[in-house]
Amino acid sequence: MNFHVLTLFPELIRSALHHSMLGRAQDNGLISIESIDIRQYALDKHHITDDYQFGGGPGMVMKPEPIFAAVEDSLSELPASERLSTPVILLSPQGRTFNQSIVSELTEASNIVIICGHYAGVDERVRTHIATDEISIGDYVLTGGELGALVIIDSVSRFVDGVVGSQENVLGDSITSGVLQHPLYTRPANFRSYDVPEILRSGNHAEIQRWRREESLRKTLEQRPDLLITADLDKDDIKYLNTLGYQV
Ligand code: SAM
Repeated sequence: MNFHVLTLFPELIRSALHHSMLGRAQDNGLISIESIDIRQYALDKHHITDDYQFGGGPGMVMKPEPIFAAVEDSLSELPASERLSTPVILLSPQGRTFNQSIVSELTEASNIVIICGHYAGVDERVRTHIATDEISIGDYVLTGGELGALVIIDSVSRFVDGVVGSQENVLGDSITSGVLQHPLYTRPANFRSYDVPEILRSGNHAEIQRWRREESLRKTLEQRPDLLITADLDKDDIKYLNTLGYQV
């Protein structure tokens, strides 16, 4: 999986991705993250990448020419067969809200181009003529798209084989599995007066599995009942949820 991030602040992307699992994944060639300085595509003497708004108004707008040139350059490195199908994502608070199903869509791509806006935003022609998708990472406004790019890269990379320990872990995570994950505990078994549930130390695998599933359903009902509408529930799940007062 190769990410091509177009930004005015390439160091912001590079410095954040050197660490932990994504750092190792890059060292091992499982993913590559190219952080491309949009400024190098501004061909005027001063490498200007933003300008005043037509019509007046506060804040500078990122110019279209350097962004088009940077996207076209990134796509030109790809095999011809991939150029048309490669997602070109414009980060913006106006886009569709990022979630697990968009993560799943993006895991299908081998290359993803991500455009980070800044200042008052990006010239509209980028959205209408070169981006293929517009994604928001939530209903709030950031100073720039770089944190959004990091969120996308991190969440999509977890689905690349070998990046996270095992795919079984990834698929059992909250949201990904359709419900919230069961509570997790580690040593010490007794910490202050807060004890690890006895069942987890019983060695009874079947009982532990049942406890985990029930805790997962209970948490989901308490914290994210909306997930239960689409969750994959079997007869036992529904029976247990009924005991908690949930009616399907
Ligand atoms: N004036 C713009 C508007 O009202 O839609 C917001 C511009 S914002 C200050 C600057 C840049 O940060 C945007 O171009 C976008 O790339 C990024 N950004 C801000 N909030 C974001 C969000 N929720 N999701 C993704 N990107 C965001």
